[in-house]
Amino acid sequence: MSENSNPESSNFIRNIIKDDIKNKKNKSLVHTRFPPEPNGYLHIGHAKSICLNFGIANDFNDGLCNLRFDDTNPIKEDLEFTKSIQQDVKWLGFEWGERLFYASDYFEQLFEFAKQMINDGKAYVDHLSAEEIREYRGTLTEPGKESPHRGRSVEENLSLFDRMRAGEFEEGECVLRGKIDMSSPNMNMRDPTIYRIKKATHHRTGNDWCIYPMYDYTHCISDALEGITHSLCTLEFEDHRPLYDWFLEKLSAPCHPQQIEFARLNLNYTVTSKRKLNELVKDGDVSGWDDPRMPTIVGMRRRGYTPESIRDFCHRIGVTKNDTAIDVSVLENSVREDLDNRAPRVMGILDPLKVVINNYPEGETEQLEAPNHPNDKEMGARKLSFSRIIYIEKNDFMEDPPKKFFRLAPGKEVRLRYAYFIICNEIIKDSSGNLVELHCSYDPDTKGGNAPDGRKVKGTIHWVSAEHAFKAEVRLYDRLFNDPKPDSNRHQKDWKDFLNRESKKIIKEAYLEPSLQSAKNEEFFQFERLGYFCVDNKDSEKGKPIFNRTVSLRDSWLKQKKEN
Ligand code: ATP
Ligand code: MG
Repeated sequence: MSENSNPESSNFIRNIIKDDIKNKKNKSLVHTRFPPEPNGYLHIGHAKSICLNFGIANDFNDGLCNLRFDDTNPIKEDLEFTKSIQQDVKWLGFEWGERLFYASDYFEQLFEFAKQMINDGKAYVDHLSAEEIREYRGTLTEPGKESPHRGRSVEENLSLFDRMRAGEFEEGECVLRGKIDMSSPNMNMRDPTIYRIKKATHHRTGNDWCIYPMYDYTHCISDALEGITHSLCTLEFEDHRPLYDWFLEKLSAPCHPQQIEFARLNLNYTVTSKRKLNELVKDGDVSGWDDPRMPTIVGMRRRGYTPESIRDFCHRIGVTKNDTAIDVSVLENSVREDLDNRAPRVMGILDPLKVVINNYPEGETEQLEAPNHPNDKEMGARKLSFSRIIYIEKNDFMEDPPKKFFRLAPGKEVRLRYAYFIICNEIIKDSSGNLVELHCSYDPDTKGGNAPDGRKVKGTIHWVSAEHAFKAEVRLYDRLFNDPKPDSNRHQKDWKDFLNRESKKIIKEAYLEPSLQSAKNEEFFQFERLGYFCVDNKDSEKGKPIFNRTVSLRDSWLKQKKEN
């Protein structure tokens, strides 16, 4: 087996795998897995893990990657999440084929392995209460104490464990524990719980079970049963690795996968914890898991992120053991680059100012040609209707402009993109002095945006013909949090105190090019000079698309914050 990817995607995990292949470890096979717990929607952090695990499988010949649901906790998990997770992994561009698994499919085998451990004197049923177990566990500086039930005979343990399964005990009355070492410096090795009683209905096994295996126990065995070669997980599991290895050594597991830890992705100005994201949804701080401000895959998709841009981002940030926070601007740059190449250009006005071109014939309309992309000729061109009354962006006009303002001002000439030069002759205000409209004149000789006499204008602004404009709702988003690390413990405050309450702005009536009326869900565009937009995949209706701004054209955040 060899790696067939480009050498750029090299990282320390890929290097370990390459060495293993060279040394014919695991018969030179590569088999990874992505193991989400179906207790929420996937977020950008999961995307990193997905790209790593599926990416490795794709890039090594004959490599495989399983999708496995770690569904051992019946209380928090449900079908909605297992469906959404599959949809998200597919949307990101990865395929598991036949290799879809559920830890709950192994419940019977896990139970048998536990009995084997009891038989080997490696596990016992403990009747201490949860609180006592905590007390007996000791601390980082003090060794733990052995439970008085630790010395139970194999027969007694087997019988008690069977009775646990039969439902004869109440929740919390007893647990099954591994018999390891109560004085181990590693707290995870101080007789960890293997099974607990939970009288809950599981979304797949129903009421078949009232005892459920713990994550550490389930995870390593699931890996081994599936023939995983490299079990990649985040750094917080480093201290669990001795336990991972202990279980597999003590049990006659079919193989012994190698656990390798990498740093989780932390992104500035957001939170990536399912528990916290769930809280935002539950408390109504966002409209749902798919709110376009959420760092979830469904949220980012709705916002207009493409799978290509997310994969590119994961590639750029790489895989290391250093826990750092990535700035959201890195993510935004990935989507900008992708859409810059692919998004058709259109014009739209978000904050309209009416402009009357007095010397343009009344009632006349002409068709002007505009390329759909500045560099990609294959994307073709379209016709734009031009007429006597147009809209421009309010902030493209200033009555009393500073020196470097090259847009429209009294007596100043600008270019209307793909159309004509216009000059501003008169400002019309209402009785309270508010700007109502501008009266301009155009130069018929500048059609297409160039003057035959070679005279230049510094500014080019976008516009839409009033009579032809398609009115649509446009939604603008800002970062969900005001602080780069809302949930870091350097704060005295609650992480939700940093919610940016102005992170969503709705424009009920933007004036857009008429062709946008037929835009389809998730279709993306560059609105010239304004940013990249995509059609909202939830609230849009046929002929009534709603546009989400994915990202502005440049990183305006720093500048904005300075100005405020
Ligand atoms: P959360 O903290 O959001 O609840 P989790 O680790 O509990 O995440 P799981 O469903 O167990 O969520 O995660 C599935 C896989 O994705 C695991 O292998 C986990 O290590 C990985 N993962 C989760 N969050 C991140 C992250 N921020 N960066 C990289 N990998 C992650
Ligand atoms: Mg987890």
